[in-house]
Amino acid sequence: MGFELEKLLRPHILQIKPYSSARDEYTGKVGIFLDANENPYGALTGEPFNRYPDPYQADIKEKLAPVKGVAKEQIFLGNGSDEAIDLLMRAFCVPGKDNIILLPPTYGMYEVSASINDIAIKRVNLTTDFQLRTSAILEAVDENSKIIFICSPNNPSGNKMDRNAIREIIQKFHGLVVVDEAYIDFSDEPSFTTELGHYPNLLVMQTFSKAWGLANLRIGMAFASEKIIRILNLIKPPYNISGLTQQKVLETLEKADQLEALVKEVMKERVMLVEALDDLSFVLECYPSHANFVLVKMDHAQKIYEYLIHEMIIVRDRSKVVLCEDCLRISVGTQEENTLLIEALTRYEPIIKNL
Ligand SMILES: *Cc1c(COP(=O)(O)O)cnc(C)c1O
Repeated sequence: MGFELEKLLRPHILQIKPYSSARDEYTGKVGIFLDANENPYGALTGEPFNRYPDPYQADIKEKLAPVKGVAKEQIFLGNGSDEAIDLLMRAFCVPGKDNIILLPPTYGMYEVSASINDIAIKRVNLTTDFQLRTSAILEAVDENSKIIFICSPNNPSGNKMDRNAIREIIQKFHGLVVVDEAYIDFSDEPSFTTELGHYPNLLVMQTFSKAWGLANLRIGMAFASEKIIRILNLIKPPYNISGLTQQKVLETLEKADQLEALVKEVMKERVMLVEALDDLSFVLECYPSHANFVLVKMDHAQKIYEYLIHEMIIVRDRSKVVLCEDCLRISVGTQEENTLLIEALTRYEPIIKNL
């Protein structure tokens, strides 16, 4: 059997004729443009935003391909990774019939997007140390299972998944395996993009929102075979990445050689933060992190969460999430921010002790 993209896709997807936008039909950059009903005089601010942007973001892909070690044709760019997640559901899963497999505790958007699209969810919890239960995952697969989402490094636990376990799932599952690498820049693990050549059913997601510091612009990346990328491009809204975003991402990529130093700074702070947290008497465990946050198990997690809010320090309460009982998820801040957090927690220590 094996993976056959044409059979895995929703049948009607292969019949879709792409919307041909003005910027598709004429791709030249000079001329008198009277084809897209734009305002020729420009915007009220005087900024050059009156023209539609490149629907396929060619300039970004040109720069990004060598950074990521993939071909331009293997890159999809979306309005956040969240757009890629939604497009994958819509391309592969028949509403009311197909299902996806999720591995809780994990990123919430997979479930949100599946629910919006009326796609069933099968859940196979991770182990207590947040690793993949490979055989249970493969046993959960049925004939309507289309996508398995593996988040590595995982949100909210912060660990990376065992690489061979991921490989085994990709090899044995004949649907699509999405490896969400939103936090890969903070890990010592190489990206699964290096393995795209081996696996036609693999799609790797990354984002500009975390390490690259561009969460506000909304731009996510997906890397896969040219065939899969062509499908995502076929069904996306034509102008899904704004021109302003494209411009800022290009400027960022010009400085790609500085990313490593920025990431190192965050990782250095992560070490300091974990050391300080571990010294607090109510902290039971800081789970090992390959991301820019740490999951921390503590006594009275909810009380501490509320106390921190009162101190104007906002962390994420994950204490109601499966396998994350009594846990808060804390993003690594600047050195100053982390110090203020630790000072606030230290002030609270005697109160927690007396509870
Ligand atoms: C933050 C995050 C993303 C990024 O989403 P964007 O829509 O690109 O901002 C994707 N996956 C996971 C697991 C995340 O934590």
